[in-house]
Amino acid sequence: MSGTRAAVFLDRDGTLIEDVGYLDDLSRIALYPWTIDALRGLSRAGLPLVVVTNQSGVARRYFSEAFVQETHRALDARLAEGGVRIDAYYYCPHHPDGKLPDYARECDCRKPRPGLIDRAARELDLDPARSFVVGDKWGDVGLAQAVGARAVLVRTGTGAIAERQPRAGLAAEVVVDNLAAAASWILMRC
Ligand SMILES: [Mg+2]
Ligand SMILES: [Zn+2]
Repeated sequence: MSGTRAAVFLDRDGTLIEDVGYLDDLSRIALYPWTIDALRGLSRAGLPLVVVTNQSGVARRYFSEAFVQETHRALDARLAEGGVRIDAYYYCPHHPDGKLPDYARECDCRKPRPGLIDRAARELDLDPARSFVVGDKWGDVGLAQAVGARAVLVRTGTGAIAERQPRAGLAAEVVVDNLAAAASWILMRC
């Protein structure tokens, strides 16, 4: 069962912060210069902000789940300095080719599968069909399509490359330069 509220589901790496590959050290967290302002605008419009992120580095044994959570606390602290708050973080620690037995499997939550948003919708009273997904990969667009949300592809991270390599059956509703432009686009439509 889904809820009632519109929300913005945000990819993490390449969307909120620079994509540094597998982020395995807190010193590598690098917010884009526009991230705080963009999030503030969305938040002021009353839109819950929910991060949805694939972190297969856990299954691959590059870092622990505790480290992923620590990363999100560190990110929260940086955002709080700008007066911005993420409502919730949902991450997928799995990967079929992983090394850790508990995590090396097919799951329902690795984007573009809908598990992360399904859980968020239940726990936070969110309606994906009224919501937006912002990300830099076709997997984010696929996730949006899987849950009936509107897909915004950003050109940061790997987005510019994705834009030049279309995927059959996947189409973002709009492609924009970065999260700031994504926020402006969403604010005109929510
Ligand atoms: Mg990304
Ligand atoms: Zn998963």
